[in-house]
Amino acid sequence: MENILYKSTRGLQGSFTASQAIIQGLAKDGGLFVPDRIPDIKGDLHLIKNLSYKEMAYFVMSKFLTDFTEAELKECIDKAYGNKFDTTEIAPLKKVGDTYFLELFHGPTLAFKDMALSILPYLMKTAAKKEKLESEIVILTATSGDTGKAALEGFSEVPGVKIIVFFPEEGVSEIQKMQMRTHKGSNTYVVGINGNFDDAQTGVKEVFADKEFEKKLLESKYVFSSANSINIGRLVPQVVYYFHAYAELFRSGEIAWGDKINVTVPTGNFGNILAAYYAKNMGLPIDKLICASNSNKVLFDFLSSGKYDRNRDFFTTISPSMDILISSNLERLLYELAHGDSSKINELMTDLKTEGNYELSKDMGNGLLDFIGGYTDEVETKEAISKVFKDYKYLMDTHTAVAYSVYKDNKAGNRKNVIISTASPYKFTASVMRAIDSKYNELDDFKLLKEMGKLLGSSVPAQIKDIETADIVHKGVCDKCEIKATVEKILFP
Ligand SMILES: *Cc1c(COP(=O)(O)O)cnc(C)c1O
Repeated sequence: MENILYKSTRGLQGSFTASQAIIQGLAKDGGLFVPDRIPDIKGDLHLIKNLSYKEMAYFVMSKFLTDFTEAELKECIDKAYGNKFDTTEIAPLKKVGDTYFLELFHGPTLAFKDMALSILPYLMKTAAKKEKLESEIVILTATSGDTGKAALEGFSEVPGVKIIVFFPEEGVSEIQKMQMRTHKGSNTYVVGINGNFDDAQTGVKEVFADKEFEKKLLESKYVFSSANSINIGRLVPQVVYYFHAYAELFRSGEIAWGDKINVTVPTGNFGNILAAYYAKNMGLPIDKLICASNSNKVLFDFLSSGKYDRNRDFFTTISPSMDILISSNLERLLYELAHGDSSKINELMTDLKTEGNYELSKDMGNGLLDFIGGYTDEVETKEAISKVFKDYKYLMDTHTAVAYSVYKDNKAGNRKNVIISTASPYKFTASVMRAIDSKYNELDDFKLLKEMGKLLGSSVPAQIKDIETADIVHKGVCDKCEIKATVEKILFP
């Protein structure tokens, strides 16, 4: 098999190995790393029928990370998808009513970010060794709530790595905030910002692009990398579970081999659904990619009009991990739609930066036909949680509920549909419980953890059961314009 190399979406000269791309995170010209072609597995698809999750991870990831040896990659996979997950299936597929939920929240932090962030630290360590990197890696992360804790969990006490997380102080759930603020780990730093996720992500990207700062870092033997889905090492492990879902549907007799399915993905930064797009283009029989948004429906508008416009009100919703108006990974899709013409990407990204919007040419717009956009408001989201619980005794978290509502409104043909279930309901306790019964309005998140346990006849997940009384280790808060200064204080005290 031929090697896959990585290039920047914005035309930076040169090609990079997967290891180099993973270590750098973001390309030096501000672009995202993309594979020089999407590996084609059509001829080998039958090989996945009976693979376990780990075997599937090797099948898929080895196609992208061609500079990793078999032994290296298998060791990373073994370490990542072991007993840190609370089920040996890793990603169970549950049939509920006329659809299927792919539960991606059985990892250490109860959200789908664990699927990739359990393995990214191992990939990065292996890459650093291959590249003979002597500098210390500083993982700079902006989070809408779930990436932060998952990255802290993954990179804690990894030698040669420091991790700094910025999150919107008022834009995450109580449980999410406590998960991050109480995280122990001598190489971890967590700071709330007075601003939203877009402010955090933009601030972090600016630090990445700061040439002078980079020089100062190099002199002190530091290099920045990213744990956000802008890192290709985050994206590749996410392609795996679409293959896994397909094989599971086949193994349980729900589809015949080769049948096309639809997937519905609750979307924010466009990483998860982009992984589905890669899976489809590798040759997995997926028909429609249904992109579900909450009231921040910038992607719905884009998919229906070809015009991206972030100039609009920002809403803080009960699905905070999707409260995003600048979806970074869309840039990777645009690169595919432009057939790798980076001058087009530069034009669009300049428009986005200066005007806050851009519009696709007709040519590029045609490529969006694989996608269906949908959105739901808060009321519909709560109704979906309540109805599905009443009808099926299945409790969805708020993000999954957005996807479920959008699926119900957009049944594309009669295809089987998989809803990507991105978080445990325990992570968004108050919003979920109050959607079921207003009698819970009086109780806070921590009291409601126990109530949810009673309702489900199960115990509160070990991952968060002592969170209310854990010591707050990280107290920092900064303004959105102080991100660079804060990083500087941490690295050069
Ligand atoms: C991150 C996240 C999303 C959005 O995923 P993207 O890859 O950013 O589109 C949806 N739901 C939950 C629970 C998340 O943590």
